[in-house]
Parts: sequence; structure tokens; C-alpha cells
Amino acid sequence: MLTGLMQQVPLTLNMIRERVAVLYPDKTVTTRFPDRLHVATYREIVERAGQLANAIRECGVDRGARVATLAWNSHRHLELYLAVPCMGAVLHTINARLSSGDIEKLLADAEDELLFVDQSIWRTICADIRVPACVKRVVVMEDEHVDEAAAPSTDQARLCALYEAFIEAQPPNIDWPSLGEDEASGLCYTSGTTGDPKGVLYSHRSTTLHTLGCLFVDGIAMRERDVCLPAVPMFHANAWGFPYAAMMAGAALALLCRQTDPASLVELINAAGVTMATAVPTVWSNFLDHLRAEPASAARIASMKRLPVGGAAVSRSLIDGFAQFGIEVMHCWGMTEISPLGLTNVERSDLAPEERPHTRTAQGLPIPTCTVRIVDEHGRRLPWDGTAPGELQVASPWAAAGYFGGSAGPDGSSRSFTRDEGREWLRTGDIATIDPHGYVRIVDRAKDLIKSGGEWISSQAIELQLANHPDVREAAAIGRPDPKWQERPIACIVLQHDTPENRKRFEMQFKPYMSQFFPKWQIPDEISFWNDLPKGKTGKIDKMVLRQQFMRNREG
Ligand code: ADP
Repeated sequence: MLTGLMQQVPLTLNMIRERVAVLYPDKTVTTRFPDRLHVATYREIVERAGQLANAIRECGVDRGARVATLAWNSHRHLELYLAVPCMGAVLHTINARLSSGDIEKLLADAEDELLFVDQSIWRTICADIRVPACVKRVVVMEDEHVDEAAAPSTDQARLCALYEAFIEAQPPNIDWPSLGEDEASGLCYTSGTTGDPKGVLYSHRSTTLHTLGCLFVDGIAMRERDVCLPAVPMFHANAWGFPYAAMMAGAALALLCRQTDPASLVELINAAGVTMATAVPTVWSNFLDHLRAEPASAARIASMKRLPVGGAAVSRSLIDGFAQFGIEVMHCWGMTEISPLGLTNVERSDLAPEERPHTRTAQGLPIPTCTVRIVDEHGRRLPWDGTAPGELQVASPWAAAGYFGGSAGPDGSSRSFTRDEGREWLRTGDIATIDPHGYVRIVDRAKDLIKSGGEWISSQAIELQLANHPDVREAAAIGRPDPKWQERPIACIVLQHDTPENRKRFEMQFKPYMSQFFPKWQIPDEISFWNDLPKGKTGKIDKMVLRQQFMRNREG
């Protein structure tokens, strides 16, 4: 054994807590509650996290125990992001849009010992939720005016405390434990679009490395002078890791509770001087429409420079549209199992000028330390020629190697993971091509591909072209069963201005428009007009629900 090696510093979230307290105590966290703006400094956040950790300890929560949150984006949720993992417990962020039955199941599956819940959520679910026996205490967070009438009922009061009273008497100082980097820090369940929700268990090491990945210039390039607005929920994959990254970098944070409508975004961007924000494309396409319609709003968001956008494919019209307002859209790709970021679209200096426009819409290059490959159905590597599609697989220190409690993969086996070439690989279920420069382009989710006459049609490619059409507000392509071809594509459309005349006009234009981009057999046979498309927990279009509703409308 050689001597004289470097220090063995465990990569834990305590690094972030210490750094933000020492270097950036006066930077701010602005939360926009529906009725007011709340501004706290990082000094206050870290001190209150200390009080919170003391209070949690008094409840008898030990290392490795799970503490659940059911909350929108706020300074209190951020305090939990620090207190729970830094005291050695595991932060289990539950999707606040689930039904009470599903929430009960997740609390029981994770064996959560405490539940922190926003009052606005508690008021709406408390009527019928049966808090499982594993939960020792429910702490209600005052995200709205606390009204006696809305206080928990007698049975629930046995369990309940209000957040401010829960931490009030506690000292801010705490003897934070030394943690190992392989201890669990967070737990987030997948949305269940591919089967039962499965728990992804993040470690201190994986989360700390993912945080650093967000700071890489060829990652998200978050830095001290940024003011960051993660407009994705903090219950979803650590809000893409942006709160931890902001604290590590020393960037100020702006949090939006639950509203992602354009007016709320404009108000918070203006109040906090936001420089970068992130959410799924549907949020930003509504925002872009608003900026175009309201020049006064465009003037109020002049501080905004960069939009890392992901969760679903980003269209060229979104990229070009924001460029007109001086805002750079950075396309990202990820999934809950990858903490979640795996790819970011940064422009390589060695791209030929003619390659640049096309490359901008790819999902991007693997972030340093992420390794990617595409494989065929037999698991054989496919070439990086930009045309061969195969399943995208990822090896990374922040990718999952299994599910919490050993739950099975999407098809009931443990096929989500495979081990070969001396590495563990996460099978993403996404079909992609990789070009010779290493840019990954997602063709579709395997389960969303439309199979017509033995050939695959990418629903995503159809959606992206429809999104570029000036009359279209939202679009999705789904397959409907077909006796002759097995499946045929249907275009589900929300028009910018939905009138009978506009529908007729769009129908007339549809085929000539699509035939500029697709061979005849790939063009949807039918247009289905909608007022709104169903969305999942992060605002992405929920194709499973869309298919069900489409079939129901058809049958009804
Ligand atoms: P879910 O979408 O099931 O709620 P995730 O947030 O984990 O849960 O979603 C991950 C999936 O989202 C990826 O596997 C991929 O299919 C899709 N996705 C994420 N980012 C992009 C992107 N930039 N382009 C296309 N698809 C994306």
C-alpha cells in the first residue's frame, strides 16, 4: 500500500450546509406564497435547519430513518432539504399531486417516521388520509394564513404540530454527525408511468457529485452570481438538484410554491432578479406566449439569461422564441433514476457551422462523469452515427443501481439494470441516437413509440414539428389501435385560438404542412382537438391518461 495519499473527505451534504453558512450567509431565498413574498437569508435558513434537526431528533428519529415531505417549493422545504440528510436521516419527498390512497401507500412503503406537510395540502387531503402507524408525528407547515377552523381534527391532533411551534424552542446549534458518503440522503419515487412507483434512494455521495455536475461549465454552469428559480417541484427528483446546486455555488434562490403560471413567474423573476430558471417545456411555451402578448412583462424579466429546460423534448420554436428575448434555452435530459440530470446541450467548439442549428435541438452531451451507450434489443452496442436508434443506457456515480427495497423494473423483472463491460448500466427505456460528436438525441420513450405496419413512428418527432406550427399551443401524438396496421398515429392538438373556423383551417393545412417533414405513412391519420391536454406531476403531458381519455371519448 502506497503512503502519502490525499485526504479522505466524505462527499456529504454537510459540505453544502457548511459552505453556504460560512461564505454566503447574506444571500437570499425568496419564496412567493400566494398572498405574500417571504425573504430569508441563508444564515436564517441554516439556523432554522439546526433548530429543525434538534426538534426531529427529539422525536426519536435515528440515522437512516425516513422523514417525508408533502410540500410545494418554499423556504421551509429548503430547511428540510438541509436538516434531514445532514442529521443522517433520509428525506422522502412525496408527490403532492397524488391521491390520498397513493400517499398512504408510499408512507407505509418507505416506513416514514415523520411527515411534514403544507397546510394547503393537509387541508385538502386530511379529510380522508389515514396516516399509517409508522408515522409518529405530522408537522403542518404554515404556507397559508393559519386559520383555527382549518386546524387538524381531534384524531389527527394526536399526531400534529405546527412547524413554527415545532422548531421554536430549539437552539440553532447542533452537533451535526460525521456521516459516511455512502449513507442514504434522499428517497424519491418514480411517477409510476411505467408500472408501480419505485423508490430511488439517493446517497450523500451521489447527490453531492450531482450538485457539482450542475456547477460544471459544461453542465448547467450555475454560479455565485446567479439567482436561480427552480420552477419544478421540490418533491420531484430534488427539483432537478437545483436547490443544492444553488447553495453550493452561493447563488440566491427564488421559490414559487406551486404556481407556474406566467404572471406568477414574471412577478417572482422581477422581485428576486432571477437570472436562470428551470421547468418543463409546457411551462415555458405558455410563458413565451405571455411575453409576446404583454411587452410590459418582457421588460420586467430583463434579468433572465438562461433556461435549462428538460423533462420532455424542447422544440426549435421554443429555442428561437426565447432567443428573441435574449434568453438562451439549454436543452437537458434526465430522469428520477439519474438524480436527475444526465445530458446537457452545450455547443462544442469543433462543430462545423452547418452542424450547429441541428445540434441545438439534441438532448445533449453526457455531463462529465456520466457515460452513455445505445444498444439493440440483444444488448449489443450500436454505432454513434446519428442514425441507428437503440436503448439509451447510462453509467454514472449519480445513476441508480437498483430500487429501494429491491422493487422490480418496469416489466416486473430487474431489467432496468444490467452489468457488463465492467460497469453497472441503468436501462433508461428511452430510444436514442448518438452522433459522432457524442450528442444524444432522444427518438422517443420506448412505450410511446407508435408501431404502424411493423415500422416504428416517433411520437416525439411528430410533436416537435406540430409545436413549431404557429397555430398550435400544445400537441401530442398517440397511437390508436388499427385492425390493418396495428396502430396509427393521432395528433392531439390544442390551438392557440380555438374556434370552429380555426379548426377547419388547421385541418386543411395539416397534411401539406406535415408532408414537408414526414413520409406519408408517418403522418397522423386524424386530428383530435382538445381544450387542454392532461398533465402529470411536473407539468409534462401525461400520455397514458391522454390515451385513456381519447379512447373513452371515442367509445362514448
Ligand atoms: P416521469 O416523466 O415518468 O414523470 P421522470 O421525470 O423520471 O419521470 O422522467 C424521465 C423521462 O422523461 C425520461 O426517461 C425521458 O423519457 C423524458 N425526458 C426527460 N427529459 C427529456 C428531454 N429533454 N427530451 C425528451 N424526453 C425527456
